[in-house]
Amino acid sequence: MFTDSQTSAALRSSLAPCAAVCLAAAIFLIDTLTPFDVAIAVLYVAVVMLSATFLDRRRLLGVGMLCVVLSLVSFVITHSSEYNLPAIIRCGVAISAIVITTFLSLKNQESNAALEAQAELLDLTHDAIFVRDADDVITYWNSGAEELYGWPRRDAVGQKAADLLKTVFPRPVEDIRAALIDEHRWEGELIHTRRDGTRLVVISRWSLKLDDRGRPAATMETNNDITEYRRAEDDLHKAQSELAHVTRLTTLGELTASIAHEVNQPLAATVTNGEACLRWLARPVPDLGEARASVERMIANARRASDVIARLRALSRRDDPVHLPLQINDTVEEALLLVERELSNRHITLALDLDPSLPEVFGDRVQLQQVVINLVVNAIQAMDPMPEDGRKLRILSRRKDDDACERPVQIEIHDSGTGFDGVDASQLFKTFYTTKHDGMGMGLSICRSIVEAHGGNISASANDEGGACFRICLPATKEPSL
Ligand code: ADP
Repeated sequence: MFTDSQTSAALRSSLAPCAAVCLAAAIFLIDTLTPFDVAIAVLYVAVVMLSATFLDRRRLLGVGMLCVVLSLVSFVITHSSEYNLPAIIRCGVAISAIVITTFLSLKNQESNAALEAQAELLDLTHDAIFVRDADDVITYWNSGAEELYGWPRRDAVGQKAADLLKTVFPRPVEDIRAALIDEHRWEGELIHTRRDGTRLVVISRWSLKLDDRGRPAATMETNNDITEYRRAEDDLHKAQSELAHVTRLTTLGELTASIAHEVNQPLAATVTNGEACLRWLARPVPDLGEARASVERMIANARRASDVIARLRALSRRDDPVHLPLQINDTVEEALLLVERELSNRHITLALDLDPSLPEVFGDRVQLQQVVINLVVNAIQAMDPMPEDGRKLRILSRRKDDDACERPVQIEIHDSGTGFDGVDASQLFKTFYTTKHDGMGMGLSICRSIVEAHGGNISASANDEGGACFRICLPATKEPSL
């Protein structure tokens, strides 16, 4: 079964030799049989040029020589009775033209062959490479593109690239074209559809070629399939967020006793206030003012309990991270609400020094709270062996006063615990590194992946006066509002 383009190519390749033979025969007959005093044989150059389109080097040379011989034969036949000078010159001119045309055609074939060899090199690469003209029509399609997209070269060449591949651009295509014209190159991720309908994510690199007048002439597009890589990356993110969720639950589990107290206390206060309210109402003359005050206290306590539960629910749900502008001081304070009881149970004094002029950061509230809770729980555990009057936790936030700083929002958590005891602080963030008999060694590594996913970094160092210091640096979203 032949396609239209195959049929017309076959037709073209059989027509050209016939045309060359007929042309040569016609020139020979006219040159031999007509008495015109003109160099008809010059027309053999057309035969040579036509033959150059379908003959190889050796055969083209043969055609050139044949044309010279035919010119000489015609000359001998027509001028055998008398060889006059003008006729000899005409014949010489015709033969020179044939020789020069043959030579130039051979040269042309040679440079075309070199170009083709260079183009074939592009077939050696595994990358999918194609060239589009200024109208987005494909003019070249390498074998990597055939393999990746499924269309053979003859079917792809001549088609509009964006239509053929159903390209989905990451931003308006006009913007991409403008960037390409400005910088003569562009790089980004595209979604393409293969011949069998499957969708691919490719990393695409475009290079622009300009014509002599500096106008866009062609764009070479090199594409690499990163579908599997993207899928693996998505799976990794999913696994990381599940792991973060599990460790969040583990940390909350460690705080169960103090959180239960945190809920219990307002509930007990609600009951006490309810009973008091009933007593005020049961008086011979009910004291409505006191009863109202008791009900107000009941409402406030019930709200406190429900706030704690809401915070717990937010931390224990397995939601996908939602990045929004937030005040990191609020996040720190919210996280502390869940560990405050634990601090007081363990006789730890907390010093909070939060800079109110901090710019907002762009982040997920629950994940950042998880980082603060993890670090505070670690600090609490590190201070366990210390005497009660020496357990001090200091949390501070500040803005790094350096305009060039990429992560100006800093939070530091200092404790007066055991410190790292000569251990290289960078070791602590490695997965499964733990010095606790019941530790998992996941907390700090998860803190690091959360902070890095927010574009920040986290580091640990020893405090001069003993104990540990953990520092988180985050990028700011905008200037603080005045
Ligand atoms: P885990 O708490 O399960 O051990 P982490 O990743 O949270 O896992 O901590 C890893 C290790 O880092 C801990 O076992 C401990 O040795 C050390 N570490 C973490 N925080 C502190 C701290 N504030 N003071 C001293 N050592 C710490």
